[in-house]
Amino acid sequence: MTETALVLFSGGQDSATCLAWALDRFDHVETLGFDYGQRHRVELECRAAFRDGIVARYPAWAPKLGDDHTLKLDALAAVSDTALTSETEIAMREDGLPNTFVPGRNLIFLTFAAALAYRRGLRHIVTGVCETDFSGYPDCRDDTIKALQVALNLGMEKRFVLHTPLMWIDKAATWRMAERLGGKPLVDMIVADTHTCYLGDRTHRHAWGFGCGTCPACTLRNKGWMEYQAHG
Ligand code: ZN
Repeated sequence: MTETALVLFSGGQDSATCLAWALDRFDHVETLGFDYGQRHRVELECRAAFRDGIVARYPAWAPKLGDDHTLKLDALAAVSDTALTSETEIAMREDGLPNTFVPGRNLIFLTFAAALAYRRGLRHIVTGVCETDFSGYPDCRDDTIKALQVALNLGMEKRFVLHTPLMWIDKAATWRMAERLGGKPLVDMIVADTHTCYLGDRTHRHAWGFGCGTCPACTLRNKGWMEYQAHG
């Protein structure tokens, strides 16, 4: 039986690792990115570079890598007023959530992903959400994803399987997973061709990749890289 998957692929470190995880495991893998008026479109631009790198360097994975899809979700910007979609500065809100929080964003992403997977005949849906570094995003929680899997399967009369390979691991372990899946070349590709910085900075290059180096996303990526370098 051919196992087919759709990976939610933003162009960041986590989703790039998930793409490698899916290519290692499934027979046919398509990718999905969302364009929702991000202030920084750089993540979306990193997607093509990373996919091209996979095709060039991983002959076993290249034939499995299928179509790339981009869905425009302009409505999401209309219900958010955060640092990702406007000129508001990144800050922590009083309830401990960053103001980059878009309520229910992952629920919306996964629902659209399931609708696309339905149309494309894909069974497995892979997302890089994580409870370990989850910044308080309630829609990244394991229980949320499990509940949504049930809802999607009931609502679409399907047997989708939602996969969250990073759910219980930290950023250092995410680097280790990439190394295990694709060796040092994959780690190098993730460093060079993925983007995490909230400020969209592609001018400052660090050992762990491009970014401002000080925003919460850069801080987390730097911390994980340092731990990965220290302990392998
Ligand atoms: Zn940054």
